[in-house]
Amino acid sequence: MPGILEKLRILGEAAKYDLCASTASPRAHTPGSIGKAVTTGVCHSFLPDGRCISLLKVLATNSCIHDCKYCINSIRNNKDFKQTITSFEPDELAKLTMAFYLRNYIEGLFLSSGVGKSANCQAEIIHETLHLLRYKYNFDGYIHAKVLPGIGKDELFRIAELADRVSLNVELPNKSRFNETCSTKDYANDIIKVSKFLPEMSKTGHIPAGYTTQYVIGAAGETDKEILESIFKFYNEDWNFRRQYYSTCLPIDETQRNLPRSFFLREHRLYQIDWLRRIYKFSPEELLSVVNETGFIPLKVDPKVTIARENPEFFPVDVNNALYADLMRVPGIGHTSATRIIKLRNKGVAIYKNEQLKTIGVVLKRAIPFLKIGEKKQLTMVDFQKTEESD
Ligand code: SF4
Repeated sequence: MPGILEKLRILGEAAKYDLCASTASPRAHTPGSIGKAVTTGVCHSFLPDGRCISLLKVLATNSCIHDCKYCINSIRNNKDFKQTITSFEPDELAKLTMAFYLRNYIEGLFLSSGVGKSANCQAEIIHETLHLLRYKYNFDGYIHAKVLPGIGKDELFRIAELADRVSLNVELPNKSRFNETCSTKDYANDIIKVSKFLPEMSKTGHIPAGYTTQYVIGAAGETDKEILESIFKFYNEDWNFRRQYYSTCLPIDETQRNLPRSFFLREHRLYQIDWLRRIYKFSPEELLSVVNETGFIPLKVDPKVTIARENPEFFPVDVNNALYADLMRVPGIGHTSATRIIKLRNKGVAIYKNEQLKTIGVVLKRAIPFLKIGEKKQLTMVDFQKTEESD
């Protein structure tokens, strides 16, 4: 039976594929140096006030009854790779969290888990851990708890009463892709039915930091179009997911880890589309127009630039008169720079030089072809394409 530090090593390492706001860096550890980015155990999350906090990130157990082929903790991979199977006792993990918290190592807990004996049995263990933290140790810090596939409504509500945020990983964008990767879970019952409990819980004031989900990219033959259709559904008002994360499926065998760069770029492009939907408020139809005939987002061009090029009627945007929403459509202008432009204008400052835009954070190279500054329209679109091609 592993000791507590060994359990922490195993269950911290096993949790690294679950995303909250950050993930492990691929930078190798040099013997004799301080710190190790590959081995995980701590992740970060952002509070509504923008503060970044550190969370102890572990599994309650790495035992799982399911056979998801992309997961190192699945019943088949646990056997094939002769993993040491272990679990935290609820009080053991609660004490560990408190010990780290009191030493100022962490400000909260991200607790995920394999599905040990069954979803509801494991949920009971997670609930007991959170209950001990909240009521035995009076822990008022941040808790993010993983929702197990197939969990019952009552069990989920009991966890939601104690957690700040929960996440249910949909993993694949639809039933047929889901079935390509797992034979033991049922998409309708274990994922969709459980997801429908989440908006109800949130409306009753539980999980104040909302709920999120995660996709594993490239685990089946899914296209970006299928993923986008799924994420737009989960961001709409009926489902109201706070965030969706994308994690490139890493081959489980360490010897196969040389993934092509395009896989990570694919993940990056999905995050860009996600931002364009959530923050920039582009419509699903506009964003779906970016995918090519094979159903993928082109890797070479930033999707915001593609949309701008395909909708020339919106441009040029007059920097001295445009609404915030129109400024946000310009490549190279984000929320911060659009807000600063409006603030400057409200103070009566006219913007007539590129330098003014540069100092407030506009990425000039991207933005200029789409802007009108004073009476002057900047580079033409043809000029801009030439500058991109010459890079
Ligand atoms: S249910 Fe979760 S922990 Fe279990 S095998 Fe699937 S992905 Fe892994």
